[in-house]
Amino acid sequence: MCFAWQSDDRVDALFKILDDGGSATTQEIGGYLMELENLIPADDIKRQKKLLTLKCWNQDSDNEAKKNLAVKFAIEQESIYASEAPSDTHLELLLCKGFYLQETKLFDAALVDYNKGVKEAYQLENPKLIADALSLRGSMLSFQGEFATALEDLITAQHLYENLNLTYWANNNLHQLATSYRRLGDPQGALSYLLKLEQSYLDNHNPDEAMDTNLQIAFALEELEQHSQALEKYQSSYQYWKNKNNPLFQHIISVHLAGNLIKLGRVDEALSYLLTAKEYLKIEEDNAFSFMHLHFSQAYLIKNEPQKALEHLALAEPAFKISNNHRGLIELYNQRALVLADLNQWQQAYLALSHYTELHLEQDKSSMSMRTTEMRTRFDVNKIEKENSLLIEKQKQKEITLQALTRNESLQNIIIVLVGLILLIVSVFAYVQLKRKVRFKQLALTDELTKLANRRHCYAKANTSLKHAIKHRIPFAIISFDIDHFKRVNDQWGHDVGDKVLITMAGICTNLMRKSDIIGRVGGEEFLVVLPNANKEQALEIAERIVTSVAQAQWQHLTPDTPQTISAGVTSLTNETSLAQLLLKADQGLYSAKSAGRNCVRQV
Ligand code: GH3
Ligand code: MG
Ligand code: MG
Repeated sequence: MCFAWQSDDRVDALFKILDDGGSATTQEIGGYLMELENLIPADDIKRQKKLLTLKCWNQDSDNEAKKNLAVKFAIEQESIYASEAPSDTHLELLLCKGFYLQETKLFDAALVDYNKGVKEAYQLENPKLIADALSLRGSMLSFQGEFATALEDLITAQHLYENLNLTYWANNNLHQLATSYRRLGDPQGALSYLLKLEQSYLDNHNPDEAMDTNLQIAFALEELEQHSQALEKYQSSYQYWKNKNNPLFQHIISVHLAGNLIKLGRVDEALSYLLTAKEYLKIEEDNAFSFMHLHFSQAYLIKNEPQKALEHLALAEPAFKISNNHRGLIELYNQRALVLADLNQWQQAYLALSHYTELHLEQDKSSMSMRTTEMRTRFDVNKIEKENSLLIEKQKQKEITLQALTRNESLQNIIIVLVGLILLIVSVFAYVQLKRKVRFKQLALTDELTKLANRRHCYAKANTSLKHAIKHRIPFAIISFDIDHFKRVNDQWGHDVGDKVLITMAGICTNLMRKSDIIGRVGGEEFLVVLPNANKEQALEIAERIVTSVAQAQWQHLTPDTPQTISAGVTSLTNETSLAQLLLKADQGLYSAKSAGRNCVRQV
């Protein structure tokens, strides 16, 4: 008898440790569970059930295979206890199932369980379980960018945890709340929570959690444009996980570090972090994997390698889609529009921009409709009446917490409406700005008549490309060409036909070029082709191809019986140090071609 009492006390003490959360290691938890299994008699159904839910929550989920096993276990157990619903045991198993579904990226299925879980928790009027269900749902929705519902869930959960004095869970939830504020665009608000949280973790000797918070602080600083301070935080996180021999976390931090370095203009350093991370991060790490490729794209665009930038975006997109990361996708489409604009593919750029807007609007719409459903359930009159009559009979503790909950509700509603409005305004503003930016860029960089790069833009791009070639000792060539006897075209057929000849000429050349080549109209009827990575032989071949294609093109409808021709000068990089020197050489080639009778290519 005496032994039985003692073992009951021990069981309850162990349950308390596991319920309160905290700094127990996976190994210690495994030990506690084993001890409980030995201590709890088979016929003590109540405690056996409690043990089952703890086993569900504390399953090993280190890798994909283990995660799948954990889901399987949760699904089986939840279905066994489904007939008992609503009950604490069933609810715990339902939430546990939702959690592992989320871990295996089955977000829609997880949301179904979380929604059911929230409902069941309210039916049971168990404040800790209400908080758990709301906190789980809020965290997932926040990650997916559904801030309106996410914030409501997390704020409600926070009040409940604090009222119940569950410090560990309150901290956990506060972390999610801070992250949501940051994602929503209030990094300053997030920062004040995070600093408090970090201190609390440090005080409680929980360095891993403190480091996790450190990373969130870095994100917030970055969003406040305090990039150098953010860099320090990223670097300390990177070093911490490296020293702890955790390559996965180390490389995930590398990705963030790289994003930060790009903003600081340290593109080469960023690329070296990304290249190392690339060896380690596979698509299973969808979030880090997708941001890694997004940052690759940003780096390569700066390094004037838009084609590569485009390829990396193609890798990032499916990974963002797997994790349903709307915020990531929005950033991705924005970047794609910039890359395509850089490649002068205006139509495609516009398409990417439309995707960007579509997603923004979709996001607003879905948070609105979710909100409407929530409101309808929450203010169901019958339900409230039933809840109220039950409430009267409840313990004092529950009354106080639930009253607090009702008090907060109107405040939350105001916050949600405001958040919705802010989201709408921000997205419309961002859309207009981007559209304007692209339009201005297009006007400033393009030749109106031929839609080719104008002189200034062409020289600027050529210059960047030349510097890159000199630095990395790679080949570089240019072709300068000029329409033969163009004055006669204007004189004989009029200026309008002359314009059409110029447009046709631009079309022929563009069709012959690769996407990475640059072609611009640098004078009235003079054009420049820049060939990064081509040597003189290749450039000569391309020039010959252009000259022949022009001469053989259909001119009948514009200048009857008079085929148009061009003359071209080709040169390549030897020991020149400026674009001006190369342009001079190419022009000398062009004059030789004119002197040699036109419709031909000469090199210098
Ligand atoms: P060459 O073979 O020696 O180059 O002879 P050319 O007649 O082409 O000689 P030149 O380069 O001196 O003449 C260029 C002419 O191009 C002069 C100008 O009237 C015409 N031109 C320049 N810009 C435009 C334009 O935008 N539209 C039209 N239709 N003509 C233009
Ligand atoms: Mg000329
Ligand atoms: Mg000419």
